[in-house]
Amino acid sequence: MKITGTLINYYFHCKRQCWLFGNRINLEDNSEDVRIGRVLHELKDEEKDNTEISIENIKIDRITKDYLIEIKKSDADIEAVKWQVLLYLKKLKDKGIDKKGKIEFIEKNKQDKKIHYIELTDAYEKELIELSNKINNLLATKRPPLLMQQAKISNKCKKCAYYSYCYI
Ligand code: SF4
Repeated sequence: MKITGTLINYYFHCKRQCWLFGNRINLEDNSEDVRIGRVLHELKDEEKDNTEISIENIKIDRITKDYLIEIKKSDADIEAVKWQVLLYLKKLKDKGIDKKGKIEFIEKNKQDKKIHYIELTDAYEKELIELSNKINNLLATKRPPLLMQQAKISNKCKKCAYYSYCYI
C-alpha cells in the first residue's frame, strides 16, 4: 500500500489508529476535531492563494516558492506532523520539486500561530523507507494493536475519531 500523510501521522500518534484507518475503518466524519480541522482549511481556502493541492494520494495545504506548508490546529503531536511533512517533501522531490517544509499550528481561540521549519535530508529519506515498510507490516497484521491498559484515558484518545470505537 502507498503510504499517505494521514497514515504516517497516525503511525506516530497511535499504532492502533494507524491500523484502523489503513484497514478502512473510517470514523473520521464523526469527530468534532476533524470538523474543526476542516473549518480551518476552509478559512485558509478563502485566501485563495496556492491553496490545497493534490498529488497522487497526498493533499498539500499550500505551496509557495520556497515552502510546502502544512496547517494544523494543535501542536500536541509535533513528531507525527514532522513525518507527514517529510513524506510530502519526498513525494515532491521525486517529481523534481525541491521545497522546504513549514508547519503552521493555529490553535483554537488563539490569534497567534506557531511555526516550525523542516528540511528533507538523506538520513530522513532513509528513515522514510524504513517507516513505510514498518507501516505496511503493521497494516498487514490481522488485528489492530491492543488498547493499552491505562489508569486514565489519554488526551490523545479523547480527541481521536476512534474514541467511541475503542472505549464505548
Ligand atoms: S482512541 Fe486512543 S487507542 Fe483508540 S485509536 Fe484513538 S488514539 Fe488510539
